[in-house]
Amino acid sequence: MIVDMRKNESCTVEIVDMSFQGEGIGKFEGYTLFVKDAVVGDVVRAKVTKAKKSYGYARLEELLVPSPYRVEPPCPQHRRCGGCQLQALSYEKQLELKENKVRSDLERIGGLIDVPMRPIVGMKEPLRYRNKAQYPVGHDKDGNLVAGFYAGRTHTIIDSEECYLGQTVNGEILRAVKAYMQECHVQPYDEQNGTGLVRHVLIRSGNAKKASDETETSVCLEGAGAEYSTVEEAEMALHLKSTGVNATEIMVCLVTNGNKLPQADVLIKKLRSIPGVVSIMQNVNCERTNVILGTQVRTLWGKPAIRASIGSLQFFVSPLSFFQVNPVQTEKLYGKALEYAGLTGNETVWDLYCGIGTISLFLAQKAKQVYGVEIVPQAIEDAKRNAAANDISNAEFFVGKAEEVVPRKYAEEGISADVVVVDPPRKGCDEALLSTIIKMAPTRIVYVSCDPATLARDVKYLVGNGYEVKEVTPVDMFPMTVHVETVCLMSKEVIR
Ligand code: SAH
Repeated sequence: MIVDMRKNESCTVEIVDMSFQGEGIGKFEGYTLFVKDAVVGDVVRAKVTKAKKSYGYARLEELLVPSPYRVEPPCPQHRRCGGCQLQALSYEKQLELKENKVRSDLERIGGLIDVPMRPIVGMKEPLRYRNKAQYPVGHDKDGNLVAGFYAGRTHTIIDSEECYLGQTVNGEILRAVKAYMQECHVQPYDEQNGTGLVRHVLIRSGNAKKASDETETSVCLEGAGAEYSTVEEAEMALHLKSTGVNATEIMVCLVTNGNKLPQADVLIKKLRSIPGVVSIMQNVNCERTNVILGTQVRTLWGKPAIRASIGSLQFFVSPLSFFQVNPVQTEKLYGKALEYAGLTGNETVWDLYCGIGTISLFLAQKAKQVYGVEIVPQAIEDAKRNAAANDISNAEFFVGKAEEVVPRKYAEEGISADVVVVDPPRKGCDEALLSTIIKMAPTRIVYVSCDPATLARDVKYLVGNGYEVKEVTPVDMFPMTVHVETVCLMSKEVIR
């Protein structure tokens, strides 16, 4: 018998688990409550905000017994922001929760028994890891210029320069942009009526491997004109040949509701004096939409793209490029994928959902031939550019849906693979793709997943068709948030 719970009722619950949205889960006489801001191990008085028949949502009214896993969240704004759902939980406990989530999904949905799990790969320092930040700009209700983040599930902008997941320099950049806007009377965008100019500030940073003698870049550039048709091409070619110290390159991109940017020189002067800023861009988005970026970009000052390295490879990142946001963990994730691929130099590898080809290029260094498939044409352009710039010639890329390109190529050309890598979005792989992979009969399938539930569903299908799960390693790509990434090795054969 489940208790009849009503909105605004209060009750005392012990939090026994956490939801995938980061709420604490507690039970009151058979009734399940999802309690915002409560963490596993807490005993709380919760006030019901929304009641369904057998479950409901509640907010934390009073913390009666704090969980032993509770920590003081570093960010004072974390409750208002909602971006970091797990900040009040110790990092060890966050990792344990994520590992358990992967295991239980593989058991419950995937039907596995005794999952061969390796411990989750966490971060030594789980803050300040993001290389990309997007700050909305607007007016508060008193008409003050504000930039920061949207209060959880609203479009109210909270003025905040600090995000503990982002780089410390971001605050300085935001202050410079706001000072420019005030000095030059540039209006922020108003969502309600579609007026004003500056919508968002996008900041991206990359760890570039620079030549120890930085003046080399400009010297070479002057001489490179004959060899390369554009400055961009020349820059690209010589960037990547350089080795030496690591240096951070920062891009600042103003997203504007219109082409004109008044007195851009004032903005440029302020931003270029900030150490690391090498690229100042403008992205034009005149649509009345929640989508942050428009399609048009122009360089206001400096380079049109920054360099970001993962392992020994360097990638060009422009305002519109997709790039993994946690470079430290990405290297570990790709390292795992590479290990699981078990390459010796003779293999043909298909990398499906390849994005800008990051995993493909990692694999190409150890494989005979890599083929990448990706739905976004711009990403494939980037992939080709990155392959050339890293002197990789054994990687070829195709635009299209993996579930269409791969079955078509299998039917028409009889393609085969020793190793197939998939890294799909949350919804996982389409069955048309999985059934073709089975026909291609690779020795190894390396599944990189950002959603354990769809991973488990797809694993079940592959296991039903003769594959066996050999090893699973979760990687914490997004500390403080509920997300977890997993790499899973499957094979038909006895390996290692
Ligand atoms: N492996 C890449 C990108 C992974 S993100 C990396 O590590 O950087 C998943 C990618 O799948 C995105 O680039 C997305 O554009 C692409 N994608 C989404 N649906 C797809 C489909 N049906 N076929 C091929 N690619 C798809």
